[in-house]
Amino acid sequence: MEVKKMNIALIAHDEKKEQMIELTLSYKNYLKPHTLFATGTTGKRIIEETGLDVHRFKSGPHGGDQQIGAKISENKMDMVIFLRDPLTPQPHEPDVTALIRLCDVYAIPLATNIGTAEILLRGLSKGFLDWRKLRRNDIL
Ligand code: PGA
Repeated sequence: MEVKKMNIALIAHDEKKEQMIELTLSYKNYLKPHTLFATGTTGKRIIEETGLDVHRFKSGPHGGDQQIGAKISENKMDMVIFLRDPLTPQPHEPDVTALIRLCDVYAIPLATNIGTAEILLRGLSKGFLDWRKLRRNDIL
C-alpha cells in the first residue's frame, strides 16, 4: 500500500524521554517515510539515538510546544505523539494544556502515552490516517 507522507510531532517530557527513544527505535521504519518534528531536547535525543531526520523546534519550556501548536492551527500537523509526564509539575503546563486543546480543536490524532502511540503508528502504516491528506488541503 502506498504510504502518504504525514507531518508528525514528537514530544516527551524528561521522565518519558527513554520511552520516546524506545518507541522511535522500535518504529523507526514506520516513521522514516514521514516528516518528523520535535521539541528541542526530544528531537536531539531522537536524532542522536535513532538517526532519523527530525526538524527541531525550541525546547518545550522555551516555546517549542507553542510552535507545534501554531503548526496545528495552520493545519500543517497530522499526528502528535506527546509522551507527557503526569507525575511531575511542568513549568510550561499552560503550553502543554494549550497544545492538547488545539489537537482537539482541529481533530488531530494525539497520543499522550506509549500505549496509544503504538496504536497510532500501526494505524498510520495501514493508511488509517490518509483522511488527513484530504483534510490538509481544506482552508480552515
Ligand atoms: P524538550 O521539550 O523536548 O525540549 O525537553 C519537551 C517538553 O517539555 O514539552
